[in-house]
Amino acid sequence: MKVWLNGKLVDKGDARLSVFDHGTLYGDGVFEGIRVYNGKIFQCRAHIDRLFASARQIRLAIPYTKQELTDAANETMRANGVVDGYIRLVVTRGEGTLGISPFKCPDPGTFIIADNIVLYPQEMYEHGMAVIIAKTIRTSPRMLSPAIKSLNYLNNIMAKIEAIDAGVAEAIMLNENGNVAECTGDNLFIVAGAKVVTPPPNAGILVGVTRNIVMHLARRNGMEMLEEDISPERLYAADECFLTGTAAEVIPVTRVDSKPIGDGNVGSVTKQLLAAFREFIDSGEDVEYSI
Ligand code: PMP
Repeated sequence: MKVWLNGKLVDKGDARLSVFDHGTLYGDGVFEGIRVYNGKIFQCRAHIDRLFASARQIRLAIPYTKQELTDAANETMRANGVVDGYIRLVVTRGEGTLGISPFKCPDPGTFIIADNIVLYPQEMYEHGMAVIIAKTIRTSPRMLSPAIKSLNYLNNIMAKIEAIDAGVAEAIMLNENGNVAECTGDNLFIVAGAKVVTPPPNAGILVGVTRNIVMHLARRNGMEMLEEDISPERLYAADECFLTGTAAEVIPVTRVDSKPIGDGNVGSVTKQLLAAFREFIDSGEDVEYSI
């Protein structure tokens, strides 16, 4: 495997960062997880735009242009022969002192990994997955905006540990107001009657690239697509529930905290949107993504 590191493709074993990198010392940095389908980087512009938006919010100057990073991601994908897989793009604050000041780190570190992707089991797409509502709440936007895809994932990791302890694959995280924010690595949607609803950005979410596409597809298919707060009660009472994410695509949720959602089977709207999403991938279409 070849890893793109600060402008060069190097062997995996030579792709090393300093132990003084603030990405390692403090989780100070930003990243993106991007899908490759049929040898093409999926929604590349949206991911690169989000990376730069994340970096800007933490006052990290990425030492490459958007075009240079796009070219580098393509180069890394091709060098590793990845046709259907995953790209991880990371920018760390760089090497500095042991103090936390980011301004003592003059050279951000940039690396790109292209690899296979680990997916949820096919069985979950057919029969749905079970999730829990975690006790760990999602970071408040007043603490650290969840819209920043930073290297600080411990908040999500703590909720993921709760999910694993409960024997399920994902955990829903509530925000400080007690409404649904998102899952540890996926956004959440419900279907309630004729409405498709997902929490708004100010619920404290990462504004998912997949979420954006699914909202577009729902509207294009004539569905009433809304961004509204979802309380746990509204979630338990929903007809359908599904998650969206780069790795998950569109995955049905049929149980929350052991309670069945709707009749406990994968719903028809979820099936329709999953099919529309797979068609969208094959079409090579692009949708506008704004943060
Ligand atoms: N929320 C969080 C916390 C995530 O880590 C992810 C995955 N990057 C998502 C939502 C889904 O976003 P996307 O559709 O852009 O992968």
